[in-house]
Amino acid sequence: MPEADTERAYRRIATEEAFAPPDLIERYRKLIVGGAANDRGFESLMGYFLFNDSPRTNAIVERLQDLGERRIGDMDASGIDRQVISLTAPGVQVFDAPTAVSLAAASNDELAAAVRAYPDRFTGLAAVAPQDPPAAARELERAVRTLGLRGAIINSHTRGEYLDDEKFWDIFEAAEALGVPVYLHPRDPAPKMLEPLLECGLDGAIYGFAVETGMHLLRIIMSGVFDRFPKLEIVVGHLGEAIPYWLFRVDFFHRGIVETGRYANVKPLLKKPSDYMKENIYVTTSGMAWEPVIMYARSVLGTDRVLYAMDYPYQFVPEEVAVTDNLPISGDEKKALYETNAQRVFGLQDTASSDGSVRP
Ligand code: MN
Repeated sequence: MPEADTERAYRRIATEEAFAPPDLIERYRKLIVGGAANDRGFESLMGYFLFNDSPRTNAIVERLQDLGERRIGDMDASGIDRQVISLTAPGVQVFDAPTAVSLAAASNDELAAAVRAYPDRFTGLAAVAPQDPPAAARELERAVRTLGLRGAIINSHTRGEYLDDEKFWDIFEAAEALGVPVYLHPRDPAPKMLEPLLECGLDGAIYGFAVETGMHLLRIIMSGVFDRFPKLEIVVGHLGEAIPYWLFRVDFFHRGIVETGRYANVKPLLKKPSDYMKENIYVTTSGMAWEPVIMYARSVLGTDRVLYAMDYPYQFVPEEVAVTDNLPISGDEKKALYETNAQRVFGLQDTASSDGSVRP
């Protein structure tokens, strides 16, 4: 059992926790049954959760739809003080643009209502529809300014397109101006990279999510997004989708391909790719409750760059909290990992801190 709140020097804030309105679940079902998604990755992923009809998948789908007492009970059982909640992957990114825009707004209204009902336990991130970048930027502004949500979540590719394309940069511009992060969350790989993963069962969270999302993150870095928007912050789950492991080699060969002009569309950057990882990117421990890689990510990116996450309800394993509790790090560093880094990144300074005080 987790220690009682009063015995701990830190509050546990879990930062990549998912929900899904029942209406969205129903729309996903219809897309799959009707074959209208025309997206084998989505059909593999959501077909599994919505049509497998096993106790394991049914429990996940039920938990996704709860923003009330069941979720709070699970948080209490696993020692989570606060969830930073976002719309589950792939969010609204599988729908046509007008549908996606309206579903994002409805989802954000529902999440904001839950945050108002449980202000001490829930924080929310906004769903946006990258299919319509100006509308996505406007929705992010509404969600932050009017609804009190604390950033945006985007689930990797949108109909095979990636955010390094400048047509999407209205969203980054809005996030930077509002001072809120964009959480780059995984989803099933884009059609052009799906097949070799799908044919051997590697398209999902087991590996394909990281291939898709890690590559997406590198595309964003190499596009110069952070030279254009130097204060933009992107949060990436699963300890950086393996990119922290590659930084030496990425820097080495990025220098080479820029110096030789190997690719016409790869432009010089103001900094090394690894510098952006250390200055604009945060990573969370979602689904990676494993001491060696948590320690590695902290050592490479810095102790202020790594945040705790559980990945509820997909990886609702209460025992995982003990792994984080038992990391061989100081009390101050544990508090940063669990609490203060998240407070800083998501602007939670207004919420109660571990000593019970509330800052203005
Ligand atoms: Mn997740």
